[in-house]
Amino acid sequence: MARFEDIGEQDSWRCWICDEPVDATMSVNDDRGPSVDARMTDRKAKKKGKGKSSGSADLPERLAHRGCNTGKGNVEAVVPWNADLFVIDPVPIVQTVDRLANKGGREIFCRCPSPQDADDTAAWLIDRISRLEPGLTLSSDIQEGGGQYLVALRT
Ligand SMILES: [Zn+2]
Repeated sequence: MARFEDIGEQDSWRCWICDEPVDATMSVNDDRGPSVDARMTDRKAKKKGKGKSSGSADLPERLAHRGCNTGKGNVEAVVPWNADLFVIDPVPIVQTVDRLANKGGREIFCRCPSPQDADDTAAWLIDRISRLEPGLTLSSDIQEGGGQYLVALRT
């Protein structure tokens, strides 16, 4: 169980996909129990396919619920948006954060109907991404347009 201990500590015993706590004492056969997920994204999948050095050694390992684990079959991970936020046209979080981590710059995440919603959404995203991609520092960049508010983050 030493591996779970290490990866659990690294991720503060939160599931990297759904952001809810993982109970370290729960059975690993339970869907809410702990499992280790090799974080697989488009970018890393391509890199892995091309590279000569094989294996998942360079894929970061993250703590996930067994039921959330993308595991076998390399199904793309989907990080859910907070259902309490009022967002329009939300983008896929994992892929967008990967682009920011990879290239930097600015990415639009969604639109919001009011400035308050836009502020709340940007704050939620920045907090969420601080656990999803530790080490990536982002600032919010909200712009009004067409009666709506574009929520972007920049590195
Ligand atoms: Zn989960």
